[in-house]
Amino acid sequence: MEFRFTLEEEAFRKEVREFIRSELPKVRQGESFTKKLAEKGWLTMSWPKEYGGQEADHMRQLVYNEEMTYHRAPGQTMGTDRVGPTIIIFGTDEQKAEFLPRIVRDELAWCQGFSEPGAGSDLASLQTRAVRDGDYYVVNGQKIWTSNAQRADYMILLARTDPDAPKHRGISYFLLDMKSPGITIQPLIQMTGQAGFSQVFFDNVRVPAKNMIGEVNRGWYVSTATLDFERSGIGRVIGGVRLLEELVEYAKATPARDDSGKTLFDVPHIRNELADIAIGFRVGRVLCYRVAWMQARGLVPNYEASMNKLFGTELNQRLARIGLNSLGLAGQLTGGPSAPLAGRIAQNYLQAVSLTIAAGTSEVNRNIIAQRGLGLPRD
Ligand SMILES: Cc1cc2nc3c(=O)[nH]c(=O)nc-3n(C[C@H](O)[C@H](O)[C@H](O)COP(=O)(O)OP(=O)(O)OC[C@H]3O[C@@H](n4cnc5c(N)ncnc54)[C@H](O)[C@@H]3O)c2cc1C
Repeated sequence: MEFRFTLEEEAFRKEVREFIRSELPKVRQGESFTKKLAEKGWLTMSWPKEYGGQEADHMRQLVYNEEMTYHRAPGQTMGTDRVGPTIIIFGTDEQKAEFLPRIVRDELAWCQGFSEPGAGSDLASLQTRAVRDGDYYVVNGQKIWTSNAQRADYMILLARTDPDAPKHRGISYFLLDMKSPGITIQPLIQMTGQAGFSQVFFDNVRVPAKNMIGEVNRGWYVSTATLDFERSGIGRVIGGVRLLEELVEYAKATPARDDSGKTLFDVPHIRNELADIAIGFRVGRVLCYRVAWMQARGLVPNYEASMNKLFGTELNQRLARIGLNSLGLAGQLTGGPSAPLAGRIAQNYLQAVSLTIAAGTSEVNRNIIAQRGLGLPRD
């Protein structure tokens, strides 16, 4: 077993890092970072060449994702990491020709219309209806927690097309133009103060039948592929590594609050907790590498992706808690000149709560690990 990247992968890491250093600051002058990534072909580097990709292997993609996440750069879009790969597997030639080139060029913003007020973990209970009417389906119902709905050009929509079939077998998967008449978007304000997601209401919204991905009533199986792409990401672990490094540097440079002349880093419980969490991030990184390694060998990570998601999101919550406990009252500020680390710890503390819910809750992921990883019976 060799625990290192190849010389070529390390050279690529350097190239990505240099690109980020030169291009990311220009975002402040209004330049689009993702458009430049699209021009380099990096947004879709692992896609097949016939669809505008570079057929980069999974380890190269991993290096790229690591660098983008570490530098807090927007290196992926929902189109490139979830929607495009789903269309490549399940789409018709016509759908591929219509949507893939626009995703490669980063021309479309997407949102995911899966969850409903009565269907989250038990997604197959969804009730939004789509009824065939000539060349169209007419959609009525409601979605909730739809991230980015206000800015999206298209939604990947799950709707019930056969209410009499068993619940997993009566659902279809559509690409819905968000400018279609009959769509109402109501943003939901989170405790971070941002409106990251919305409720979306459908009142006789017409979606062309040709925009159905996969077969009618087989949309559930298409959606599980989309969710697998979503859960395999490494961002949930790597995202915290940078913040941990910043917290350690801050603790080393900041006097302890007891006038002892020592630094925060010398306070035993802070020091111990930071060491503990640093070990956690090393472990989390190896879990991420395992998922990428499996993908590189054509294996399909399943409970392994759940372990990755579960461990990474809970670790980030621990980091935020330790950070908040270490920084004292000022650590609760989310911004402004008095906020340590530009308020990132407090922001992370509020944000991290949602991480163990989105893309499958911790409980649901523990069930997957118990049943598929350990072979335990269903409850
Ligand atoms: C930040 C964020 C962004 C999101 N973005 C989107 C989006 O863009 N599109 C979208 O469609 N959805 C999105 N969601 C919704 C997300 O997918 C759901 O919140 C999630 O699937 C949980 O569903 P729920 O909220 O209905 O909770 P429920 O499913 O009602 O769960 C409630 C509680 O019961 C537990 N539970 C449920 N079933 C079981 C079980 N079988 N065993 C043990 N415990 C169980 C859960 O773990 C949880 O603690 C987002 C959520 C968040 C937090």
